[in-house]
Amino acid sequence: MATASETCCILPAGDLQRLLDTLSAKGYRVVGPTVREGSVVWETIRLVSDLPVGWRDRQEPGRYRLEQSGSNEIFGVVHGPQSLKPFVFAPREPLLQIERSNDGFTTSPTLPQSEKVAVIGARACDLAGLAIQDRIFLNDTYRDPYYAARREGLFVVAVNCTRSLQTCFCASMETGPRAHNGFDLVVTEVDDQLLVEAGSEAGRDVLSGLPPSSASEDLIGEAARRIEVCAANQVRRLDRSRLPQALYDAHEHPRWDDAAGRCLACMNCTMVCPTCFCHTVEETPDLSQQHSAHARLWDSCFTQQHGYIHGKNIRPTIKDRYRMWLTHKLASWIDQFGTSGCVGCGRCITWCPVGIDLTEELPALLDHGFRGVGKSDRS
Ligand code: SF4
Ligand code: SF4
Repeated sequence: MATASETCCILPAGDLQRLLDTLSAKGYRVVGPTVREGSVVWETIRLVSDLPVGWRDRQEPGRYRLEQSGSNEIFGVVHGPQSLKPFVFAPREPLLQIERSNDGFTTSPTLPQSEKVAVIGARACDLAGLAIQDRIFLNDTYRDPYYAARREGLFVVAVNCTRSLQTCFCASMETGPRAHNGFDLVVTEVDDQLLVEAGSEAGRDVLSGLPPSSASEDLIGEAARRIEVCAANQVRRLDRSRLPQALYDAHEHPRWDDAAGRCLACMNCTMVCPTCFCHTVEETPDLSQQHSAHARLWDSCFTQQHGYIHGKNIRPTIKDRYRMWLTHKLASWIDQFGTSGCVGCGRCITWCPVGIDLTEELPALLDHGFRGVGKSDRS
């Protein structure tokens, strides 16, 4: 079996451009985090200087700030509001074009153009989210051709986290901060060295195009130590030991009223969540009434319409909707897919305008003073 020093190689941070150029030469559109309007968002990049070099993010409930780190750290920003979700499950996916004809109408499906996209800077929680989306869109009974086409062209360069945010709790969800699988390449930044490891045949192929330079045991050990410190420094955790049943039992807990009194039903938590997959379809006819576009859009269980079925709204209040969301994420998802619907990225905590924090809500809902009636709210 190969040792770590045989499978890892070193790329001086100043040579990262060679990796970007190699990916471009192989036909990938290279995408990475870029600073825009006080946050980081995925954009097409050409140069290392397009990345948020020298920036760090500070995240707290309801608060996101970028600040200069005073270093040349390339991957100092952990993450922005976007996970890998938009690359595979598009926020708006055209499905059909419909044309009126003399004897009715004709439809033609719109399939996505297959595109090779290399994303630099995904985190372990993003990979865990992607694995859940794969399960939903590819590996269950129904295989979504739109998702499949986008997924096929995706090349992921993950980054192991060596710094945790105030809102991270991936260690307690066992999804991070080290990326274990689901990447093509994974990078650990150790000062001015990048430790690079391949996780797929495509990754090994890209790595073979870079100057060979095997990593020393010392550097590999230092990278591992920094990842462990990152995990140990996480201030939030989520205790899953009593899930899913304890959350079903908390269906009538008064804490739901408390959360509902703060929740604005703004949908931010579902938009930023790497695992949420609700969607709706929309018809957009043109003014001539000869043509209509049929598209799939991200939806959210926090909208009024989402709970509307057969002449009745089954979740008319914000309390119903918040309870549905949290119960699905942390309990019925386990029954449905055999895994938690939360990967511990903390995005819903940061981007909730009123700072509702599921790592605070869950223990409050499971407090021992309340004896639930066991009514379930399964999706
Ligand atoms: S529920 Fe919140 S913390 Fe969990 S994966 Fe979704 S956005 Fe991240
Ligand atoms: S982000 Fe916060 S306020 Fe908005 S719907 Fe989610 S929990 Fe409610």
